[in-house]
Amino acid sequence: MADIIQLLPDHVANQIAAGEVVQRPASVVKELLENAIDAGADSIKLIIKDAGKTLVQVIDNGKGMSTTDARLSFERHATSKIRSAEDLFQLHTKGFRGEALASIAAIAHVELKTKQPNDDVGNTIVIEGSKITAQDVVVTPQGTSVSVKNLFFNIPARRNFLKSDNVELRHIIDEFHRVSLAHPSIGFVLYNNGSEAFNVPISNYRQRIVNIFGTKTNEKLVPVEEETEVLKISGFVGKPEFAKKTRGEQYFFVNDRFIKSAYLNHAIASAYDGLLKNGTHASYFLNLTVDPQTIDINIHPTKTEIKFDDEHTLYAILRSAVKHSLGQFNIAPVLDFDRDANLDTPYDLKPTPNKTPSIEVDRSFNPFQEEVVGINTPSPTRTVSYKKEPTESWESLYVGLESKGTKTQQDFSEVHFETEEATVSMFDKDIEQTHTTYQLHNKYIVSTIKSGMLVIDQHRAHQRVLYEDYLQHLTIKGALSQQLLFPLDLHFSNQEIVVINQLKEDLEHTGFVFSNVTEESIEITGVPVGVPESEVSIILEQLISDVENEVPDSNFSATDLLAKSMAKSLAIKTGQSLQKDEQEHLVNKLFACKAPNVSPSNRTTFITMSVDELDKKFI
Ligand code: ADP
Ligand code: MG
Repeated sequence: MADIIQLLPDHVANQIAAGEVVQRPASVVKELLENAIDAGADSIKLIIKDAGKTLVQVIDNGKGMSTTDARLSFERHATSKIRSAEDLFQLHTKGFRGEALASIAAIAHVELKTKQPNDDVGNTIVIEGSKITAQDVVVTPQGTSVSVKNLFFNIPARRNFLKSDNVELRHIIDEFHRVSLAHPSIGFVLYNNGSEAFNVPISNYRQRIVNIFGTKTNEKLVPVEEETEVLKISGFVGKPEFAKKTRGEQYFFVNDRFIKSAYLNHAIASAYDGLLKNGTHASYFLNLTVDPQTIDINIHPTKTEIKFDDEHTLYAILRSAVKHSLGQFNIAPVLDFDRDANLDTPYDLKPTPNKTPSIEVDRSFNPFQEEVVGINTPSPTRTVSYKKEPTESWESLYVGLESKGTKTQQDFSEVHFETEEATVSMFDKDIEQTHTTYQLHNKYIVSTIKSGMLVIDQHRAHQRVLYEDYLQHLTIKGALSQQLLFPLDLHFSNQEIVVINQLKEDLEHTGFVFSNVTEESIEITGVPVGVPESEVSIILEQLISDVENEVPDSNFSATDLLAKSMAKSLAIKTGQSLQKDEQEHLVNKLFACKAPNVSPSNRTTFITMSVDELDKKFI
């Protein structure tokens, strides 16, 4: 047979590579920002139109490219950053794979303008779907500007796959946050559809965090500093009382690169053990510096996952460093050595005589005191809930059985010798015992029903109950507002305030009363009836993240979203132990619902298992 294998033409290979590197406009943002940083720029502008679908442009004042380099930069595997395989373990740049520009140029219209500092004129290249359509000299400032227009113009399937502008913009802003947090010594500006959305000047790290997340963030930060032979840690963690419902503000940087690591995240979560309210997550902004030889960044095309040589040691050091900082902060909450005076004193402080600070030291505090619990357990919450009340969970397993007494045992023997009569008689007994419920692992409620048994997910079931309650409250009964004795002053980032403003009118229909909304805070004087004051900020946070993550479609209704969101925030959680009467109440309320079988987010709330099915398992 004739040979059939052929080398793919470059533009096809590039398009395939682009599938890995460029998933959405935010991926382009990441690659271009990283190239600008690698070029040594200290001022970088990002310009976005239509959530990046129409335009992503990055302008830097870095070292620019020569005429030949400008042309070569679009070739696949063309990079100035590494020369040999060994260099992969000595990386001091963001990029090294040499495929970003080639990939982007394969699936968009790209225009590059670049000039090196000592040249009078620069070069421009226009390239569309891997084909260069123009190349010329051009008058342009020092540095590089790359505009990427009409992303996925030649791959309609990918273009259609993009989410709404809201969602895509959220991804872009996330990327902008990550990159700008990793580089406080570079000034960044983001223009979105013609207006300035972020402008973060060169500053120290604390100021950078504050510039991005709002002035109020400053008081929430606890510094973390640790230096050992294998690892240097610097940055901040959030005070436990400001922990959030959503995992929004959690940032790890390894050698100035944002990375995701569930394992290291667990190290931090365990450092907070016992300090956080159930279901909340601490914020952190931590920079880890390690020897580049001890990590492998080349395990994923988007470079957000890395492999450490000795993850266990990093885990232990990180956990104890965070624990130590939190411990120190508990002793002396006002001592903060790393404060930037400009941020803390918006007004002139009158000079006061110096006092010798007195510090009470908790000598019993030992950051290494607790064993590293559940080092391999991915879910921190689970470790906590099991650890707290192990006996109770076990007891609850037996509650239901106990109340059935010896009869149950007889029933089982009847099943074993299965006859028609035996099955019928068991059903009769079940009817008598319909109200027998017991809780399994503080997570499920198990109950008997006519045909067999019922297992209910307590969190989802309660969400359904609350959701229908709220919906009825909000739509049929109209808004009932409960006046607060003292107005609530809540702080949010600019981005979050934008979302609240979008929803303000609907929120008011549901009973919220806003007295003052500024760029960073909202004042609330009334809340919907039945919503505890203490939960308001959590509900709004949840709501904001729901709006940001949900694709609003034609069925989008703010009332529905609010009811869902409130139900999610206020429902009984997994891990919560319930009294007998609470369990029964929940079961009854669930089956009084219009759609008892699914949670508001369409997840199964209960399953049943008939005696027949059980019988089959015993064959
Ligand atoms: P990588 O960053 O992995 O090297 P890219 O495809 O992103 O690969 O870029 C290819 C090359 O183009 C880079 O190695 C660099 O030399 C050059 N380059 C890209 N962007 C810029 C820029 N903004 N300023 C200067 N040079 C750049
Ligand atoms: Mg690059």
